[in-house]
Amino acid sequence: MTELLKKLINAKSTAEDGEFDAAVVLGDYFKNCGLSAEIDCWQDNRANLILRTGPKTKAGPLVFLCHLDVVPPGKEPWTSEPFEATERDGKIYGRGAVDMKGPIAACATAIAEIVNSNTTLKGEIIFAAVAAEETDSCGVSRFMQKYEKSITTPAKIIVTEPTDFALVTAHKSLLWLEVITMGKTAHGSMPALGVNAIEFMVEFIEKVSSYNVSKKTDELLGQGSLSVNKISGGTATNIVPEFCRTEIDIRTLPENNNEEILRDLENIFETIKKTNSKFKAEMKILRNCPGLQTDQQSDFIKRLQKILGIDKCTAVSFTTDAPHVAGLGPVAVFGPGKPDMCHKPDEHISIADLKTAVDCYKKIILEFPG
Ligand SMILES: [Zn+2]
Repeated sequence: MTELLKKLINAKSTAEDGEFDAAVVLGDYFKNCGLSAEIDCWQDNRANLILRTGPKTKAGPLVFLCHLDVVPPGKEPWTSEPFEATERDGKIYGRGAVDMKGPIAACATAIAEIVNSNTTLKGEIIFAAVAAEETDSCGVSRFMQKYEKSITTPAKIIVTEPTDFALVTAHKSLLWLEVITMGKTAHGSMPALGVNAIEFMVEFIEKVSSYNVSKKTDELLGQGSLSVNKISGGTATNIVPEFCRTEIDIRTLPENNNEEILRDLENIFETIKKTNSKFKAEMKILRNCPGLQTDQQSDFIKRLQKILGIDKCTAVSFTTDAPHVAGLGPVAVFGPGKPDMCHKPDEHISIADLKTAVDCYKKIILEFPG
């Protein structure tokens, strides 16, 4: 398993490099175990890998959903090369070790070991390793377009994101916005002749910062949030700026209505306009990801809790591809690796955790489908 993980890390799969090489590593691994996976490749280097094994039954399949892509190594220095996996002190280091090539290696190993042990599967197992979870989720969308019709529902779905073995049934949704304020340039020594777009933005930020995204508090997820996280504007010290641009990160509860939030922000524009008729602004959605909320009382979650020995379900702060497949059946997020290791330099996972994960995924495969 550690060899598979190392090969996966070395198959650099950032959005720029594409997932094809990592898909080939996984495809070869399954082939050597006597399993035949399909690689769906597009735009030269983007790829999903799909493995289907076991008999199709009315009970619906057990689906493992993973993502092959990783984020770039970042600007901070690493102790060892991010795309040359290394083993030190019982841990594997490299980009994707936690998010989520470690969980992929553990899950693929569990499937291969069960199939090779000649255990009769109760039903179909679908293992889908998709592209682009870290960017625009085009991989999971493509998977759903191509395979949704052939999947018996309700399926039971495990998303193998690193949760450090917590059983996750909920996460917030995400709404990223761009707001641009527009003014008129003038010489910096005569500001009265211009319209200052930065001053407009300051007024908007002041008002939006006190805006309450969610009116309710959710038991697992708490409240929504809004944060202005990027700003740029102006061209020179002596020119009144004609534009200012911000990016806003909004996290909402699954029941929140994005339309309503957008309307509320438009209303902030209108309020400012009432005191300053020259105020001009526009808003654009940059990214919109739905949230996850699986019924904790569902049979699937109850049985998972029992076989894994977990009393309580939890929520995570990050988003996943889970909502894209929630139409197929109940979804749980479960995997090895500390979530706070994700997207950081010196990303690593312990080999002991990977072994525990193989055991957990094997228990899940033996319990489900059915
Ligand atoms: Zn991930």
